[in-house]
Amino acid sequence: MTIDLHTHTVFSDGTDEPDVWWAAVRDAGVRTVAVTDHDTTAGWEALARTRPPDMTLVPGAEISARVRIDDRMVSMHLLAYLFDPAEPVLAAELQRLRQDRRRRGLAIVERMISGGVPITREQVLRIAAGAPVGRPHIARALMEAGLVSSVSEAFADLLSGRGPYYVHKADTDLLRAIDLVRGAGGVPVLAHPRSRGAARWTDEAMLAGLADAGLAGIEVDHPDHGAADRRELRRIAATLGLVVTGSSDYHGANKMLRPGQDVTAAEELKKLVAQASAPIDVIGPGGW
Ligand code: AMP
Ligand code: FE
Ligand code: FE
Ligand code: ZN
Repeated sequence: MTIDLHTHTVFSDGTDEPDVWWAAVRDAGVRTVAVTDHDTTAGWEALARTRPPDMTLVPGAEISARVRIDDRMVSMHLLAYLFDPAEPVLAAELQRLRQDRRRRGLAIVERMISGGVPITREQVLRIAAGAPVGRPHIARALMEAGLVSSVSEAFADLLSGRGPYYVHKADTDLLRAIDLVRGAGGVPVLAHPRSRGAARWTDEAMLAGLADAGLAGIEVDHPDHGAADRRELRRIAATLGLVVTGSSDYHGANKMLRPGQDVTAAEELKKLVAQASAPIDVIGPGGW
């Protein structure tokens, strides 16, 4: 029973429409899958409606968060599962994050235009098609303009966080995000704690602070994590009593990842589901 708890669709910066996404996930052998689009629950309904009968959907989202460390802001992503999408405080914060993604995406485009990069605001908004704007949408515009041949090539240069066109998002304070998810009856899990940018800050003391603040789990198995980090995170999770998850972070054609590339154990998913208190359940046969 293969379980993948972190994927993206066309409702954020993935490329798969619901039917294509279900086929990709199912063909990869995954039977339980979480949708975790960035800062939105817009895909939940369409994915539930198009679910093949043997598949189980875990409704979720990936919240753009940040932590202040000394005088710098470090970006971290918080996975949230089985929360009430109608809970007003969390819903308002997600809406603010989406609005800020649009502001920031267009600000990056303006900088590129000023620098002579031949893309337009209209092009990026067309590619995003109403989804929260992310750099992968700008990457697609750069591909259309013939400036790069892949999304990852765009990230290596024009879209780099250290490049001249980069603009920060106004993300949610991580402790507040954990609080908002719990307040909406959901279960918060720290996404890819050892991916580039976050890795040097997420030591045991830092994760212990998050656990005290209500964090339920950490994403130990993720394509960005090497073997040493996985071993260490597994040990920290055991020490702190955190749930261990694993997932692919599948983004369709925007990232070279396969659904089920990394997976979650059934007992760990059961622990997550047991902590959820919103009137939202997994959809499908479950069976784990
Ligand atoms: P943003 O949220 O707009 O700052 O863009 C970050 C998103 O871009 C992440 O959620 C990833 O989905 C994606 N991303 C980051 N690095 C890469 C890369 N090297 N190749 C493809 N996608 C990437
Ligand atoms: Fe993404
Ligand atoms: Fe992420
Ligand atoms: Zn993700």
